[in-house]
Amino acid sequence: MPLLPTGSKMDLAFECPPSRVYPLVDTVNEAGVTGLKVHEFLEICNTHGPEIAYTEVGTYCSDELDERVAAIDLSLFPIGDEWQAEVSFLYDVVEETSDRLGQCIGRNYPKRTDSQITMTIDVLGVREDRVIVVDYKTGRTDPPRPQDSGQLLMGALAAATYYQKDIAEIRFMHMPDSHPTTTTAMVNEIDLSLFAVKLRTLRSKIAAADKIYQAGGKPALRSGEHCTYCPAFDACPAQRSIALMLMDGDDTITHIGTRKKMGQAYMMIKQFRALATKFEKQIIAEASREPIELPDGRMLGQVVGNNRETLDGPTVFAVMSEIYDEDTANASVELSTAKTKIGAALKLFGVENMSAAKKEVFAEVRKRGGSTNKKSTSIKAYKKED
Ligand code: SF4
Repeated sequence: MPLLPTGSKMDLAFECPPSRVYPLVDTVNEAGVTGLKVHEFLEICNTHGPEIAYTEVGTYCSDELDERVAAIDLSLFPIGDEWQAEVSFLYDVVEETSDRLGQCIGRNYPKRTDSQITMTIDVLGVREDRVIVVDYKTGRTDPPRPQDSGQLLMGALAAATYYQKDIAEIRFMHMPDSHPTTTTAMVNEIDLSLFAVKLRTLRSKIAAADKIYQAGGKPALRSGEHCTYCPAFDACPAQRSIALMLMDGDDTITHIGTRKKMGQAYMMIKQFRALATKFEKQIIAEASREPIELPDGRMLGQVVGNNRETLDGPTVFAVMSEIYDEDTANASVELSTAKTKIGAALKLFGVENMSAAKKEVFAEVRKRGGSTNKKSTSIKAYKKED
């Protein structure tokens, strides 16, 4: 029987249990690399202290990532003696037992049976009456509510079982940039027991799907947004069906055979996208009028997003200068501009000959070395030369 998912793939397995029976290939994209680096930085903060973590900054992959990591306000994070970073567990869904595998072991999990799940908790706190399970999310998409997250509940169940606690506090710290938004939920003994039952049901569903698959059949798949991160994507029959439509009979998903087929597929993708955009607009318009129920039980409708505070640059500069000094104030703000902004400013000033005024400003900026030119490149369709 296929193995149960690890903690981080738990939610995907709940969405589509048969995804476990197909060949799995894990891929890491650019956003994944950024996430790993931010996690690594916070892990070093916890295990060796912020000073050592900051010496690592500057050795990451890009200036952008270094700046993002350096701008993190560590006072908002669970760092210190009362927290453990990167703690791995092995939970047995049949025996309902939990073993602590260690701290900072990477993904070097031991060999496991088909009733065991391995997982790593980003940060764990163990208190007298509860465990606190924290997961960092670094992507742009808002995470679900903590109590709806299989990954957090899995960590909570494993830690609470191991430390024999009845309550778990579960938290997402979402940081699409350097500023975290924390969402927290409390789960009790009953919630954890129900989740343990859900895990056993998942195991049964995977076993049933595997039986069909081994007999040459097709288990019922459930496709949706979750497919984007599915390690079975390349082997998935549901995705193959879409590929068949796109590729005019060729069901090879990841490798489009010939250059001619690539050209055909490119045109088809454009048409699909145009149609999809049109449909999506209609659906969004209707959902903003009245929420629509989705097949997975969620609703599509207006939601109020998290409050993101933006600070006014000149005010920050003034405050920082007063409290600290001008150098520190300079380091805390950024001056940026665009040609359109210059035009708008000149209009506000009331210049009469806009074109001449702009020319004068641009010429002076260039003379002072204040302009650079960069040609952008992109892949687009263009007219074939004869
Ligand atoms: S790609 Fe989607 S439908 Fe296919 S196995 Fe994965 S989750 Fe299921």
